[in-house]
Amino acid sequence: MLDALFQPKSIAVIGASNRPLTIGYRIIQNLKDFGYQGPIYPVHPKNPEVHKIKAYPSILKVPGEVDLAHIVVKNTMVPMVMEECGQKGVKFVIINTAGFKEIGGDGIELEKKIVEIGRKHNIRIFGPNCQGIINTDEKVRAYANFTFARPETGYISVLAQSGGVGEVIHQRLVDLGTGTRLYASNGNAADISIPEILQYWATDEKTRVIILHIESLADPRAFMKVALEVTKHKPILGMKTGRTELGARAVVSHTGSLMKADTAIEAVFDKCGIISFRNQEELCQAAIGLATQPVPAGPNVGIITNTGGPGIIATDECIEAGLSLPDISEITRSFLKDHLFAEASVSNPVDVLATAGPKEYGAAIGALLKDQGIDSVMINFITPFFVDCEGVAKEMVRLAQDASKPILAVIMTDKKRKGEVVKIIKDGGIPVYDLPESASRALGAMTKYGEYQRRPDEKIVGFKDVNKVRVKEIIDQAKKEQREFLLAREVIELLEVYKIPVVESVFINNPEDFRQIADQIKYPVVFKVDSQDVVHKSDQGGVVLGINNEQQLLKELNDFRAKFTGPDVRFVVQEYLSGGKEIIIGVNQVEGLGHLIMFGLGGIFVEVLKDVSFKIAPLTEHEARGLIQSTRGFAVLKGVRGEAGVDLNKLTEIILRISQLVTDHPEIRELDLNPVLAYNQSGQTKVVDARIRI
Ligand code: ADP
Ligand code: MG
Repeated sequence: MLDALFQPKSIAVIGASNRPLTIGYRIIQNLKDFGYQGPIYPVHPKNPEVHKIKAYPSILKVPGEVDLAHIVVKNTMVPMVMEECGQKGVKFVIINTAGFKEIGGDGIELEKKIVEIGRKHNIRIFGPNCQGIINTDEKVRAYANFTFARPETGYISVLAQSGGVGEVIHQRLVDLGTGTRLYASNGNAADISIPEILQYWATDEKTRVIILHIESLADPRAFMKVALEVTKHKPILGMKTGRTELGARAVVSHTGSLMKADTAIEAVFDKCGIISFRNQEELCQAAIGLATQPVPAGPNVGIITNTGGPGIIATDECIEAGLSLPDISEITRSFLKDHLFAEASVSNPVDVLATAGPKEYGAAIGALLKDQGIDSVMINFITPFFVDCEGVAKEMVRLAQDASKPILAVIMTDKKRKGEVVKIIKDGGIPVYDLPESASRALGAMTKYGEYQRRPDEKIVGFKDVNKVRVKEIIDQAKKEQREFLLAREVIELLEVYKIPVVESVFINNPEDFRQIADQIKYPVVFKVDSQDVVHKSDQGGVVLGINNEQQLLKELNDFRAKFTGPDVRFVVQEYLSGGKEIIIGVNQVEGLGHLIMFGLGGIFVEVLKDVSFKIAPLTEHEARGLIQSTRGFAVLKGVRGEAGVDLNKLTEIILRISQLVTDHPEIRELDLNPVLAYNQSGQTKVVDARIRI
């Protein structure tokens, strides 16, 4: 319960100051200016008054109860002050003071110490090295923070790890004329954590949207557990900056090398249904859309415009944002024919023409809201001087009143002279955008949230036909022999006992071995080297494809024996698979998070385009399919231009079995199936090369 932090009945400021350029001054100023509803108790060793408010020499001398105390004294003084807060029975402290964990060395010790003191006295700590909180609720009006944004009361709450980013986002929302609800930036988060705040905000009725900025996650699993629940009924818009502690460990696998610094965080966001942003402006614009409008039930947008060009831009941008513009229904079409000007275009986008006034706009909006095939409505309005623009604005607001579909307005106008038009629409609760680009992106994000919300609540169903014990034995054996990589034959067996199809392979060392199997070989075959020292076999001439007869194979065997001479060198004769699509499936373990599963098409898709996607194991079937679908190469897998696609069910199954394999065996650090050759007929799809690191 963070009530006394976000709705404090009284606030003390320990380290209050009369010097204007100090935090101890600024906090009191902010509390006063914002109209804090409870008593403020400045604590100052000498001054009888700070900011013309009666001050006390110590927190112990404060007469009333203290819910929340800001601590802004020097870092080394904080433990002593915390002890006094303990004696006083203070419930929460916001430690603005810096000089703790973030400076390393002594700072780390100091932070541990204050956490201990907090535990001992039952004081919850917000910070240290942080800004503080804001609550704009009329009954509270706590600006317990030293920043400068002057928020209006609203429905968007901002939670930021970095105070700098949080403040900029907050200010931007203010500039966009949007109110905010709660704000928190908790710095080092020694005690009260981001998940705890999220959980509390989830229960705050007036918070409709949460904006979240993070740099790193102290405990990704705890975060995910909370965020996944919150996003089911409240959107979280996430922004990640800077380096992440979730970066990949030193990697040797292909999968690892394809991971970027923010891959893990992106995967966390995706797993929890957090909409991810790289751009603060887009983040704010989408937040406003979600705070004011219903969530779109699907991707189908109906666009209304009064000039062609902006309608086309809107269309392009919507498509780019992953939305679609379906045809409008016959009923809608004939209704519009009757109610719009004769020259109007009654398809999607609907061009009502420049002369359209309240009546025409009203007809078009009403019709699209009714059309079953439309999930959201975007209205473009360039304000002509010969039209009753205020009337159009009022008509929009009237129709939006009880609409169950979101409406976004793009008002292209001279804002100084036509400010009233914008004001009517905004006051009516419709978000107003300057350009179709920003509205489209906001709508794209809103739609994405809808998709997240509608995700099936699937359980992870494990395959029963796997042999977990055998895999454990294989791994234990490798551990005992202090091997980091599993041997090729171990990898094959391990995949086989998890029913992951592997190409048929025979291992040989010399011509004698070969003679024993010669009769069973069905040509064409592939001949490969197998050795711990040869990581990329084909780069070193260790893969020969399409060998058609025994003579050729013997020649390669002799060549290989001369070329590869390490102590563990062996050779593999493999069934040659022709014409499949090369797929790469990989796994990389990330500290504190678990396994990230990667999927991509091989060849240029991965080498040049780096076209891969990642998700966190264990995967549901929906997620496994999403993993495949979110690569650009997906079109190729489905089949393009008459070329057959591949059996996607089989690929999905392989991904799910891999997900289960690594979840069952956390010792597996990296795994590369590179490639899997995929075919239209499921029985043909097989792994031809695999590596596993433990
Ligand atoms: P490496 O990745 O170590 O170079 P691979 O075993 O993956 O070695 O072989 C290199 C390439 O040869 C593969 O990416 C694939 O295109 C092709 N290849 C390998 N084995 C087979 C096979 N059994 N059938 C068909 N093509 C194969
Ligand atoms: Mg390979």
